[in-house]
Amino acid sequence: MKDAEHAKTLEFHARLAEKTAETSDIHLLIESIIAETILFMNSSSGSIMVFDKEEGCLKLYVSAHHPGLKKNLKCGPVARIPLNHGIAGQVFSSGQAILVEKADKSKQQLLLSRKEDAGSFLSVPLKLHKRIIGVMNLNRASDNESFCQLDLNRLKSVDTLIASLIEKESLLSTIEDNRREIASLYSISNILSESGDFVGRLEEFLAKLSEELSLERSAIVSLNSDFTESMLAGESGRQMEILAARHLRVSQLNEMFDSVSARLRMQLLKPVPSCTSDEELEAPLTLSFEESTGPRELFCLPLVVDGRPSHLLLVSRRYVAEDAQQARKHYRFLYLISQNLAMAIARESMIHRIREDQEILLESATRNNIFLEISKDLTSTLDPYIILQKAFVQFRKVISFTSISILLYDDLDNGYHLIVQPGEAISTAFQNRLSSSIFSLFSDYPADPPLAKENFFKPVFFKPQTHDKKPVSNFKHILHLPIIISDRVRGLIHLARKDNTPFTHKELDNTSQFTGIFITSIKNAQIHKRTEKLAFTDPLTELFNHRYFQETLAHEFIRARRYAKPLSLMVIDIDFFKKFNDTHGHLVGDKVLRHVAAIFKSSVREQIDTVARYGGEEFAVILPETHLDGARLFAERIRSKVEQSRVNHEGQELSVTLSIGVSCTLVTQCEKTSDLIEAADIALYRAKDGGRNQVLSFDESQLKHEKR
Ligand code: GH3
Ligand code: MG
Ligand code: MG
Repeated sequence: MKDAEHAKTLEFHARLAEKTAETSDIHLLIESIIAETILFMNSSSGSIMVFDKEEGCLKLYVSAHHPGLKKNLKCGPVARIPLNHGIAGQVFSSGQAILVEKADKSKQQLLLSRKEDAGSFLSVPLKLHKRIIGVMNLNRASDNESFCQLDLNRLKSVDTLIASLIEKESLLSTIEDNRREIASLYSISNILSESGDFVGRLEEFLAKLSEELSLERSAIVSLNSDFTESMLAGESGRQMEILAARHLRVSQLNEMFDSVSARLRMQLLKPVPSCTSDEELEAPLTLSFEESTGPRELFCLPLVVDGRPSHLLLVSRRYVAEDAQQARKHYRFLYLISQNLAMAIARESMIHRIREDQEILLESATRNNIFLEISKDLTSTLDPYIILQKAFVQFRKVISFTSISILLYDDLDNGYHLIVQPGEAISTAFQNRLSSSIFSLFSDYPADPPLAKENFFKPVFFKPQTHDKKPVSNFKHILHLPIIISDRVRGLIHLARKDNTPFTHKELDNTSQFTGIFITSIKNAQIHKRTEKLAFTDPLTELFNHRYFQETLAHEFIRARRYAKPLSLMVIDIDFFKKFNDTHGHLVGDKVLRHVAAIFKSSVREQIDTVARYGGEEFAVILPETHLDGARLFAERIRSKVEQSRVNHEGQELSVTLSIGVSCTLVTQCEKTSDLIEAADIALYRAKDGGRNQVLSFDESQLKHEKR
């Protein structure tokens, strides 16, 4: 008998082990356990109640023919029972089994919910290490033999097994749930770390999240920086921008937002939880609100980026009365995913910032390079025209303009020069308008000296850099900056633009930097030019001095020989100048020297011929690419001009005459410059000898003759 009993128990163990192996579903397993126990205990029906820690109740599972069962088609617990309810509640709280042999006669009857059933009843606690995890109940119908103490013992011999199977399975199922949650968190979060368009990724993220949590609408919105303050202050004017959304219109978003704003205010006041313990997730930000098609459930999660709630994850779905545990799980899931989302947004904004920084760096590197080029260009030549032309070309890489103009005072000729570099062809109308616009603009500046018609030189327009288009006829926007040299307003940088795009502050900064570089170079160039001028200029007549004459002659001599071109030289001497000085005084003599110098200067070819004061009352003119005949004619013109001109002194009209000697490399056998000078000198002596006030040239035969 005992062996048979033992065998039966072993068989029960084996069958339960088999069932456990067959399923990984906790609900199915509990149902199987109930069914097997009914068989094992020869009962008509049974139930198991499992303690739910989270909800603080007992979850009831019942067998197929349970009298308490009304309509149970789905698997899983059919009801939740308060811990102190009925016989099971009593067994659960006391830990003591209860045997009711005849239910209708028992004082326990009151506790039984099925008053019509008069069979017998067994209820044992399911214990594991003194911890009660639930209660097992068995019924025998009244037409069957009543449960007795032996039956109770028999059930007690398997209760620990049942308890451990349920506990193990529920642990496994929790682990499985967590695993699934983590896997799905991982796969949804992964979308965020993919590369490509961020908004696109957010949309995909919302799509997957919606699928996972059966969401209806969802949105990620960004809040402006003073959002929290205005929110806390209860201000209505809120500024948010939808970054990504699913099935959501702005009006719906506003509606949803209104529903959560009060709660959100509370949430914002609370410190942000730093970890995800369940206690902190105790009060999920879930709200229900009505849509025309029924109640909706709403979750709103602030996303903390850089220490402030800068975004919101807002999701809604149809309201389903599900168990609190499930809702908490969903909120927990949303919370975890919102952390990942916040991190992704922070990362994205960092990438964005880095990209912006890189762009700024790159831009400033390019700009610095160009400014360096400009600086180099500005110092590479002393010709201000070339300097400007080069600088303009470079500057156009930094800023777009139709024309750039520089108005600058030049100490050497005491006037303002306007130089214009058009980027593209500009019409005459444009040119005129530009000149007069700059003139009137600068007239208002406290310039030193002030700009006037008299000291405003004719503007110089460089060739445009591109010619392909029709000339631009007008400009719409201008930008101008004064050029200040040694605390004096000495000019103006002026940009004009044909398109309707106003100049920006950045462009103003760039122009100001450019002007800075430009001014430094111009200052240097001016100092250099002044020093050079002093070194090569005769202070009395402002003609080149003897040193400059010698250098230029040497240079031109080599050039003439290299290209087999003629080079002529004129040596001029004022007649009887000693006597003139004696008669009128030295100061009047000086005046005459300046007077004739001016005539020489205005008579020669600008940029080609060089007039120098050779010494005392002697002058020289270098005439490149000029034959002897031409030079003679030229000399004659000068001689005659001087003869006819008058110098006024204290009411007296004074005049002097000149003797001029001319020589040419093609007529004289010249080995060196001194040969050419000597030849001209000989011609000059001959002119003096021959009665003065005349031009004489020199030829080779004469030179040989004289030397002999
Ligand atoms: P000739 O017709 O032969 O050239 O007679 P000249 O008197 O011009 O010749 P000379 O060489 O004897 O005299 C040159 C005079 O030029 C002497 C000097 O008084 C004058 N002279 C030279 N340099 C200057 C100057 O810088 N200023 C003035 N006022 N006179 C000068
Ligand atoms: Mg002389
Ligand atoms: Mg003389």
